[in-house]
Amino acid sequence: KYPTEHYRALDAAHHLHPFSDTRSLNAGGVRVIVKGEGVWLTDSDGNRILDGMSGLWCVNIGHGRREIAEAVQQQMAEISYYNTFFKTTHPPAVELAALIAEVTPEGFNRVFFCGSGSEANDTILRMARTYWATLGKPSKQVIIARRNAYHGSTVAGASLGGMAPMHAQGGLPIPGIRHIGQPYWFDHGGDLSPAEFGLKAARELEAAIDEIGEDKVAAFIAEPIQGAGGVIIPPDTYWPEVARICRERDILFVSDEVICGFGRLGSWFGAEHFGMKPDLMPVAKGLSSGYLPIGGVLVSDKVAGVIEDTGEFNHGFTYSAHPVCAAAAIANLKVLREEKLVERVRDDIGPYLRERWMKLADHPLVGEARMTGLMGALELVPAKPSHRRFAGDGSIGLRCREHSFRNGLVMRHVHDTMVIAPPFVLSHEEADELIRLATLTLDMTHADLKR
Ligand code: PLP
Repeated sequence: KYPTEHYRALDAAHHLHPFSDTRSLNAGGVRVIVKGEGVWLTDSDGNRILDGMSGLWCVNIGHGRREIAEAVQQQMAEISYYNTFFKTTHPPAVELAALIAEVTPEGFNRVFFCGSGSEANDTILRMARTYWATLGKPSKQVIIARRNAYHGSTVAGASLGGMAPMHAQGGLPIPGIRHIGQPYWFDHGGDLSPAEFGLKAARELEAAIDEIGEDKVAAFIAEPIQGAGGVIIPPDTYWPEVARICRERDILFVSDEVICGFGRLGSWFGAEHFGMKPDLMPVAKGLSSGYLPIGGVLVSDKVAGVIEDTGEFNHGFTYSAHPVCAAAAIANLKVLREEKLVERVRDDIGPYLRERWMKLADHPLVGEARMTGLMGALELVPAKPSHRRFAGDGSIGLRCREHSFRNGLVMRHVHDTMVIAPPFVLSHEEADELIRLATLTLDMTHADLKR
């Protein structure tokens, strides 16, 4: 163990970080996390921090679980690596695929494994287009996605995603992808009620299909609740209208379950929460609770049958169904089931935290509070009641995030929207502590504005 400055100096010299503002990073130095247990992190100065984000929306069963470490160790000793190409398999791949089939909705029995959510979304792009080509409709190529969505950082993932700063670097998006608006009532609703705005946002999909031509559209991809975009919970009217459009139009619906899948909304999959019937579901994060990198595409029988008809789907990764990662995922799914953690999000800690989180809307800095399952957001505003934003595009949110970290709570900011997604094992006392720390953080940020 070394002092924090040791890690900071080496990090600054040698580590190029993903998604990190290098200027503020160098000014303040990085945070060094050395331990995790349950919902708590410890940094290299010995501070305890409540992990309100489950890492990057993934450590759903909490940090430091011995069951996972033991399953991984055991699998390492059996066979630490083999591939699943050329009709080869191994017990963890088979067992995990079967276990996933037990928890997926009716009509889902197959999984294509990969290493991450980004790879899962690269896979759906090729799979959706291959599906239509195999059915004799090769012109159906365009994937419709949404602005401000996050679907990963690979070229296809970032192109499907709708984040302008990502598109600006590296010449994205690639051709064949169209973006429509997001169902973000707080920012874009104007004078419309949430119900009216939900219908309007959904009908952008219909308008896009009409404009492009149904014979050219392969699929629509969306997160049930946009996560990295700022926990955008659509109005109640949105998903039923999207379902109608997908039913009436000959396109595939892809529910990106990388965040919502495996329990975050209190149902096994986000699509189930909203009564949606997808054709493909990319997953990652919660599949292994982030203990080891693994992702996949959950493939409906409708699509799997056609893909198998191609003879050979020319796609796969060295680490597709990596045995040690698959063993971690199996152990994780067993924990979720045995401890009834999905039910816990739905019936216990989800409603408990939500009741308290929603009261933060009374704070003078908060224009709206929202939460579904264990995924929540606060909109920071200069004046109430108003949807007007602060000038400076996210500087108040950044300030709030920094206060939060120093106070001992990880909250993330998306411009001036604060978001949380804590582990499912959060106790009632820890939920109270989260609210206390969030309130303190809002007070400190608010006090800064008066200076
Ligand atoms: N899809 C969604 C909805 C995500 O939130 C993410 C990551 O945050 C991804 C895809 C990409 O996953 P990964 O970072 O594992 O490549």
